[in-house]
Amino acid sequence: ISVSREQAATENAMLRLEARKRMFSAEYGEQRRARLSLPSWTQRQKIIDTIASNRVVVLTGETGCGKTTQVPQYLLEEAEALGFGAEVHIIVTQPRRIAAISVAERVAWERGEPLGKSVGYVIRLEDMPPRRHGSILYCTTGILLRRLQKADGLAGVSHVIVDEVHERELDTDFLLVVVRELLNVHPYLHVVIMSATLDASIFTRYFGGCPHVNIPGMIHPVQVYYLEDLPQLMGQFFPPATRQRKLGCSDEEDIDFELAAAVISWIAQYFAKGAGAILCFLPGWDMIAMLRDRLSKTPASKGMAIMALHSQLSAGEQRGAFTHPPGGMRKVVLATNIAETSVTIDDVVYVVDCGKIKHRQFDPSRNMTTMRVQWTSQASARQRQGRAGRVQAGFCFRLYTRDVHARMLEHQIPEMQRVPLEELCLQIKAIAAPNVVAEAASPGSNMSQLKGTMAVNTGMNDIAMFLSKALQPPKGTSVFAAVKVLRQLGAIDQYENLTPLGRTLAKLAVHPRFGKMLIYGTLLGCLDPLLTIAAAACFKDPFVVPISKRDEADKMRENFAINSAYASDHLVLVSAFEQWKKANLAGQGHSFCERHFLAPMTMKLIAGMRYQFEKTITEARVFDTWVTSDLEARTHVARCILTAGLYPNIAKSELCRESKGMKNATQHAYRWRLGFCVQNGRVFIHPTSVVNEKHLDPNKHYYLIYQEKVQTSQIYLRGCTLLPPLALVLLGWNVSISSDSGAAISGDWMLLEVEGWLKFHIDRRAGLLLLELRQA
Ligand code: ADP
Ligand code: MG
Repeated sequence: ISVSREQAATENAMLRLEARKRMFSAEYGEQRRARLSLPSWTQRQKIIDTIASNRVVVLTGETGCGKTTQVPQYLLEEAEALGFGAEVHIIVTQPRRIAAISVAERVAWERGEPLGKSVGYVIRLEDMPPRRHGSILYCTTGILLRRLQKADGLAGVSHVIVDEVHERELDTDFLLVVVRELLNVHPYLHVVIMSATLDASIFTRYFGGCPHVNIPGMIHPVQVYYLEDLPQLMGQFFPPATRQRKLGCSDEEDIDFELAAAVISWIAQYFAKGAGAILCFLPGWDMIAMLRDRLSKTPASKGMAIMALHSQLSAGEQRGAFTHPPGGMRKVVLATNIAETSVTIDDVVYVVDCGKIKHRQFDPSRNMTTMRVQWTSQASARQRQGRAGRVQAGFCFRLYTRDVHARMLEHQIPEMQRVPLEELCLQIKAIAAPNVVAEAASPGSNMSQLKGTMAVNTGMNDIAMFLSKALQPPKGTSVFAAVKVLRQLGAIDQYENLTPLGRTLAKLAVHPRFGKMLIYGTLLGCLDPLLTIAAAACFKDPFVVPISKRDEADKMRENFAINSAYASDHLVLVSAFEQWKKANLAGQGHSFCERHFLAPMTMKLIAGMRYQFEKTITEARVFDTWVTSDLEARTHVARCILTAGLYPNIAKSELCRESKGMKNATQHAYRWRLGFCVQNGRVFIHPTSVVNEKHLDPNKHYYLIYQEKVQTSQIYLRGCTLLPPLALVLLGWNVSISSDSGAAISGDWMLLEVEGWLKFHIDRRAGLLLLELRQA
């Protein structure tokens, strides 16, 4: 720490005084009582001592026992009391933005302070950092990772606490690898790993058998019932339809809304009023909306206050789930697995668990993301059950059988093994790249040592090698696929060295495909629409389609489509955003969103992200002057530039023969319809897309570029934009000329092949000019 000795002494003395004053203030009493009643308090001294005398400690305890809010405070308070408060700066990482803010708010309140003094938070687009010395910073995992790209990223940090490691989220697993390396370089750094699941052996082993402290819970017993117990328990309340379907073979992808609604209203009527809230776990916000609909039609719903809790809600809307409804109303919270560990609703007594989650799985060999509703794991079922026993003995109703439970995975597959890894691989290069060392690190600084160590001794330079050190490394094919994409984008060269483009991309905090579009957009003077497209790609689709108003919503979305000859989901976002921005300036953002089925929160996030990208691009000095042209020209160029990032995700139209109903139809009963195909088979345009096969001319050829290929019941392309073929030839790669068949057509034409399966006949002179341009 770069403060002089006297300065440090003064600061320490001041902090000590402050801490004393706080002890004796009136408000502090209430906070203190709340804190003393938490299970973690009983382990306070043990936690402090173990952390002080070890470099790494694994800490476990049930959700709500006080890990996140209390442990950092114990460390800071102890230091304050012993007179070295100013030497403590604790960073606590959280996987979720919302959790980081709400926890920081809570801790500041407990310390009787506003945010920004000794407690603060930093998340992307929002920050309220604390002072540098004698403080606790809550931040998202991604923020800390980005900070580590800088040479002095950990200057002055005494403790790094990695929270919620049991979730096995991508960034957290990555941070663990980095932190393990950092221990060699920062001799005074202490690391605490915190997990809500009791089995910590995987983490202690990972850190060479480090000590493990468990906080015994004060959890009350929870009575668990399975589906087969319910008919007897509920009597006539049990829905006959469910009874008829064989209990044992409930379908994995389906949710039995009728059953869920029946169980909830049965609890509401059967158990004494006002005696605790009901928490129901569902796989996604759309299912929450459906169950809410269903519930509101039951007679019991009059006495219920039904709340939703999922990450699409704004902070204000989320608070509803934590309030207490007025007199005698029964609180019912319908939640995704956000309520499983990271937030705590304190009055839950009944848990209704559908036992499912929505799971994304990326298959590198097919370049395909599968999104399925699946059974959750036994670990998460246990976690959900535990939420019922916080205030008193509780009940957990599992809407699946014992048999299903026995077949569930023990733990969830870690994210690192099931998502595309391009961003991660780029980050690895940026943290380890030796050429950054020369640039950024001052001689002798810890970071230059670190980068030296990682790059040279530990082989961190090699992406695959680095990832092999993860807790549960990803498959080789995934890493290979990601490295290939980075190479295709030009972010790394053939020796896996970061290119100048790659270094800029790593700073952008966006998928490198979109990062490249931003850079091209800048160079070609049409950044504006691309900023919106890239920003929107960071969040969920802002179009929220209520099931009951699907047609109306689809029409609204189509209204935003600029030009149907080249219909584009990406440009729909651009024009929706532009119009929203105008409405918002006039103070009508909210009603505009309501009318057009847009999520206001997402629009605001997009606006914030756009601003952030613009700032990063300016700072990266990708351009010196900003050329603007009229909107139409800009959006058209922007459409073409999508190719630069999304290539080779191309589909081309084909005429498909399909039978017209009858099975034994004769040849005449066939009709021709326009469909789309990718390199190895037929695909469908996602129904939410504005690119609609019905509106296209079956006699013409169409090409489109897509963002994602998703398999549900069929293979769907999501995020589609129709393109002129020239864009593909100019901005895609892997173009070859086949002269012989070209000559077969006529001397003036040549045949260009893209990726070996898309063929274009192009005017010879234009074609040659194109190839020349490409080479330049
Ligand atoms: P853990 O990290 O072990 O899951 P926390 O430290 O987050 O536990 O929370 C400890 C306790 O503090 C909770 O049981 C709850 O009673 C209380 N608490 C935490 N955050 C809030 C909040 N935002 N509002 C009210 N109470 C809270
Ligand atoms: Mg916590």
